[in-house]
Amino acid sequence: MRPEADVLAGNALGQLAFSRPPYGSSLPFLAESPARVLLVDDEPRILSSLGELLKGRGFVLTSAANGIEAIQHLNQEPFDLVILDLRLPDMSGHDIMDFMNTRQTGANMIVTSGDREIEAAIGALKRGAYDYLRKPYSPEELLKTIDNALKQRRLQAENQHIAGQLESSEKKYRYLVDSSPDIIYTLDHQGRFTFINDRVTQLLSFSRDELMGEHYSVLVHEEDLKRADYVFNEGRGDYRRSRNVELRLKSRHPDGEPRTFIHELMRIPVDADQTTPLRETSQREQFGIYGVARDISERKRADELIAHQAYHDILTDLPNRVMFKDRLGMAVLQAKRNNVDLALMFIDLDRFKLVNDTLGHGIGDELLQQTAARLKACLRRGDTLARLGGDEFTAILPELHDRQDAVVIARKFLECLHLPFQLAGQSVHISASIGIAIYPTDGESIDELTRNSDIAMYHMKAEGKNGYSFFDRSMLDASYQKIALEHSLRVALELGQLEMYYQPQVDVKTRRIVGAEALMRWNHPERGFLGAGEFLPFAEENGLIIPISDWMLEAICLDLREWNSLGGEAIRLSLNLSPQYLDRGDFFEKLRSALALHHIEPSQIEVEVTENVCIHNPQTAIEQLDKLCQLGVSVAIDDFGTGYSSLSYLHRFPIHTIKIDRSFVMDIQDDGSQFPVVLAIISIAKGLGLNLVAEGIETAVQERYLENAGCKTMQGYFYHEPLSQKRLLELLLSQSITQ
Ligand code: C2E
Ligand code: CA
Ligand code: CA
Repeated sequence: MRPEADVLAGNALGQLAFSRPPYGSSLPFLAESPARVLLVDDEPRILSSLGELLKGRGFVLTSAANGIEAIQHLNQEPFDLVILDLRLPDMSGHDIMDFMNTRQTGANMIVTSGDREIEAAIGALKRGAYDYLRKPYSPEELLKTIDNALKQRRLQAENQHIAGQLESSEKKYRYLVDSSPDIIYTLDHQGRFTFINDRVTQLLSFSRDELMGEHYSVLVHEEDLKRADYVFNEGRGDYRRSRNVELRLKSRHPDGEPRTFIHELMRIPVDADQTTPLRETSQREQFGIYGVARDISERKRADELIAHQAYHDILTDLPNRVMFKDRLGMAVLQAKRNNVDLALMFIDLDRFKLVNDTLGHGIGDELLQQTAARLKACLRRGDTLARLGGDEFTAILPELHDRQDAVVIARKFLECLHLPFQLAGQSVHISASIGIAIYPTDGESIDELTRNSDIAMYHMKAEGKNGYSFFDRSMLDASYQKIALEHSLRVALELGQLEMYYQPQVDVKTRRIVGAEALMRWNHPERGFLGAGEFLPFAEENGLIIPISDWMLEAICLDLREWNSLGGEAIRLSLNLSPQYLDRGDFFEKLRSALALHHIEPSQIEVEVTENVCIHNPQTAIEQLDKLCQLGVSVAIDDFGTGYSSLSYLHRFPIHTIKIDRSFVMDIQDDGSQFPVVLAIISIAKGLGLNLVAEGIETAVQERYLENAGCKTMQGYFYHEPLSQKRLLELLLSQSITQ
């Protein structure tokens, strides 16, 4: 190598290195396009004969007469082949090859030289020359070498292309695997992670690096390890693929809750050489696991919630009717098997509706929640408390030694409800009626037990509430009686067995009748004359009160019309209005048209409503009562002081009269004492400018006390019992005569 050339070459390369190469590391060779060939030789003769030789053979030819020219060309455009003379005036061919190698031009090189020294050839081949041709070479030799070089280059280009594609597709798969919503992993035959995608970091806060090489037990939730061992190991012989293996995985997220995954597993052969001694691998194939784990925690939670809601009451979280039936069924089976008794309790709150209507549903709900909590606290493990709806609860007490066990629980229930409930700043008192049915005496099926505990509960209600009652066969008769009663009440309505009676209201000073309250009677063919209290509450329960009230309206109008036609002094009739009837919203229209039809002055009518009616559906009630007032009908509050309501409604409701309830009047038994409730009611009425009627007067003492307190209108057996219309008319007639 010549020293000058080295210096020159260094300079030349140093300068040229600044220009940007037109190609990168990849081979620009395309099979279809003509091969670009650079011819480098300082002998013009050789250069031109080379050009002649290659012309017309489908090459794109470029010539360079020295090293600098050659490098300039190489810097400017890509070549597929360089035919290079090793001996150049300005630098050696080796330098050009070095340049090409550092730039990774990728062109194939055929080196020619007249040099006989073997070093030159070795130096060229070391630098990656495709071939070395010693000058002089034959044209055929050159053409063949060029052809081979280009063929090799084409192959090389194709390989590189494929490799590039492979690389990008691997990236693609890698990307797909990492961005999969599932955790994808492989385990070797010893259960150690050999691959796990990035999703594990996002879902569980474990990094893939810390998991690689670790046993799966670092990730599987402790309680699921046994199952994991089974599916990953023992079960392995049985399957190639197993689906839907549910395993919880640990999470390092702040909530710390393990997450539930559905795993799909596939057995895969593992590279045995790396993992096991030869002796074993030759005996049997080694299998690892390829697993895809899908996070189903959310779905699982939702499923659990739905399942919970299907079997629980949303308000109290107690088992609902469905679960109650299920539990009772199980308890009955068990009792049968163990030959023991079982108690079913039916618990119904007394006066719950009143609280609900008075204080609002929000408070009512809270009362039910508190009740549920208190009742639950009374039970033993293994007992079930359920809410069937409304204010109805049931308790299943399995493994009963004797009835006394049930009594103890029933008493506990009643006692725990005894303490007042604090609701929205008010203390509310409630009680409950409990019916108890015992398996197997009172029934062997769940339906029978439920029905009979219900009957016992109703029995308790009828007996005065706030207590418990065991079911008894005789109660069945009573409930059959009820069914019979409903039937006969319908018949009564059709056959005209109902009749209106009238209890006069008298002016205490003059003892003259100033009005009368209409009270219904049932002329029962077998049971005789029944008071309203004996069948109307029942009619309220089964809805018959509606047609009965329709009938009452008509009957009263007819009776009043008859009195009016006699031309006597106009009296006022009070009629009792069922809450349901007022609730329906068409009462006003019905009354108005009935009055018009029978030419009755609205001022002759007073409707009596109880306090509860005013609160039940206040809007409808107010509207209708307002309209009644405008029409001229007056409104009385019946049984005043016994209801739940506060005094506030007295302002909101259009009221003319307050009736002092018979229970307060009954208390008045001697002249000497004071009866503050009665006095309070009277002063309220006076304060609001309302009329007062005292109800249920039976003694002169009661009359005197009330009269002195300022009450002017009286009603009660002391004056008159409820009378038939005929009898009332006679009384009124005689009164007008004595006027
Ligand atoms: P109420 O409105 O409080 O009626 C007064 C009840 O007390 C009547 O009972 C009456 O007969 C009774 N009574 C009156 N004076 C005395 C007395 O001095 N001593 C005693 N021990 N009792 C007396 P009745 O007729 O059985 O009515 C019971 C309830 O049935 C009534 O209570 C009323 O709420 C309802 N009712 C009665 N008739 C009708 C009706 O036609 N329609 C509707 N919707 N309800 C009615
Ligand atoms: Ca009344
Ligand atoms: Ca009353």
